[in-house]
Amino acid sequence: MKQIPPVDLARQYHLIREEIEAAALEVLSSGRYIGGAIVSDFEKQFANYVGVSECVACNSGTDALYLTLRALNIGQGDEIITTPFTFFATAEIISRVGAKPVFVDIDTKTFNIDVDLVEAAITSQTKAILPVHLFGQPIDMTRLCAMAHKYNLIVIEDCAQATGAQWADKTVGSIGQVGCFSFFPTKNLGACGDGGAVTTNDPAIAKSIRLLKEHGMSDRYLHDEIGLNSRLDTIQAAILQVKLRHLDSWNQQRAELAAVYDRLLQPLPGIELPQALAGGKHVWNQYTIRIRDREDCNRPYRDIVREKLQHLGIMSMVYYPIPLHLQPVYKELGYQLGQLPEADRAAREVLSLPLFPTLSFEEQQQVVYGLKDHLT
Ligand SMILES: *Cc1c(COP(=O)(O)O)cnc(C)c1O
Repeated sequence: MKQIPPVDLARQYHLIREEIEAAALEVLSSGRYIGGAIVSDFEKQFANYVGVSECVACNSGTDALYLTLRALNIGQGDEIITTPFTFFATAEIISRVGAKPVFVDIDTKTFNIDVDLVEAAITSQTKAILPVHLFGQPIDMTRLCAMAHKYNLIVIEDCAQATGAQWADKTVGSIGQVGCFSFFPTKNLGACGDGGAVTTNDPAIAKSIRLLKEHGMSDRYLHDEIGLNSRLDTIQAAILQVKLRHLDSWNQQRAELAAVYDRLLQPLPGIELPQALAGGKHVWNQYTIRIRDREDCNRPYRDIVREKLQHLGIMSMVYYPIPLHLQPVYKELGYQLGQLPEADRAAREVLSLPLFPTLSFEEQQQVVYGLKDHLT
């Protein structure tokens, strides 16, 4: 039987091969490989897409987050409220600037930080809230920003998995003070390599990030701060300009594929399907179901289902098997198993099914047959 991968980037490439190759070859023959108009044009196009005045491109989503915290002068003695159920980078950069991540449990339905629990985690040291629009689902930014406003906290959106998602008709990355994006190949807008960007309506933040991302250099060989080297390569900016033109239609296809899974999986016992909140536009970076634990099984039943799918050539993924508050590196923060029960349960139950814009109906049916065989 043909294998079904979790994502198939080569298929997408072949669909728009001529456009991508023309853009990349133009850069190669120009001899200008770093910076230039192609990068600044991409920044303008992306700012326009998100609906902000400023965009600074950089080398990765991780750097976008790191540069943001540096530009906001967040460091030693500061606390940042975030989710324990995300990719490690979200918390890693908080620690890297010397601040402390404070993990708040997640909402059962959305896997996103539970806005109702945020207030209790705010202390006199809290500087910012760092929500993640996980799997492409925007968090309720109306309520989160109202809370942040009440306590005078900054909101930094981790939009790595949600490029193009919207909350109340505003694109994520334009709602909090700063939005951080990743163009890692598997994200909704993915480069052919690493890339990232910061979006904001605050020119002072953008200016500070521009300085930091090139060695804190305010003038040629004049360094005001300790920064880093974090550029978006010109060739990646050229490719991203091409792909940005397709993003809305790809996101639309993802939503249609999700609706097909919803329909085909509806009657299955023992699983829960992902739910999109009313008020938001979900862009389905992942289609993540829950597979409930079984009493007759001493490990997550999800793991057994996953292995069985794998035997059928169906590659599903687990994002994320260990929540961040239980990671070995965060032992010193003192979190215990059971303290953030929803994050713990999600880590045991989640399974992301293959979903990418070129996935066929036959492949989706095959995934569903595989699941049906092992859940009844
Ligand atoms: C991918 C991702 C990042 C990091 O982006 P990179 O470009 O890989 O550095 C950060 N946060 C979340 C939620 C992500 O999914």
